[in-house]
Amino acid sequence: MARIGIMTCSNATQDLGCSSASCLADMRKRRGRFADYPKDDTLDLIGIINCPGCPTLTGSDKLLHRIRALTEFRVDVIHFTNCVKALCPFKRKYKTSLEAAFPQIKVVIGTHQEHITDDEFRERVKCLFSRPRKNMVDMILNRDLED
Ligand code: SF4
Repeated sequence: MARIGIMTCSNATQDLGCSSASCLADMRKRRGRFADYPKDDTLDLIGIINCPGCPTLTGSDKLLHRIRALTEFRVDVIHFTNCVKALCPFKRKYKTSLEAAFPQIKVVIGTHQEHITDDEFRERVKCLFSRPRKNMVDMILNRDLED
């Protein structure tokens, strides 16, 4: 049995509302990076966390603190999601830091099967972020909330 933890990018989960459904579907169906596990290995999802946000000057410390939500529960592998893979400029550094701090845990970059390239993914995410969106400021300032 492989005890699996998943870490998502906060930009995808917190800002853009991703529920990790594609990652979880492909874990169940053993597609994408989940196809790498031996067929007779049961895949047991222990937990999902989102990244604590871009690290500023703290380097990997924020992540090392947050990742305890998975490491304290005997995970064998931590998968960084495809959104981390495509969007995160710190993913290699994070992987190195986690592997140094938790040598018994394997870190895998990627989760679900890829249907578009990382460049296309980044372009689409950029498009979502650059659309005008209403938020609490507009409500507080009594601006028209329609559209
Ligand atoms: S550090 Fe990387 S994974 Fe975390 S929010 Fe920023 S881009 Fe996403």
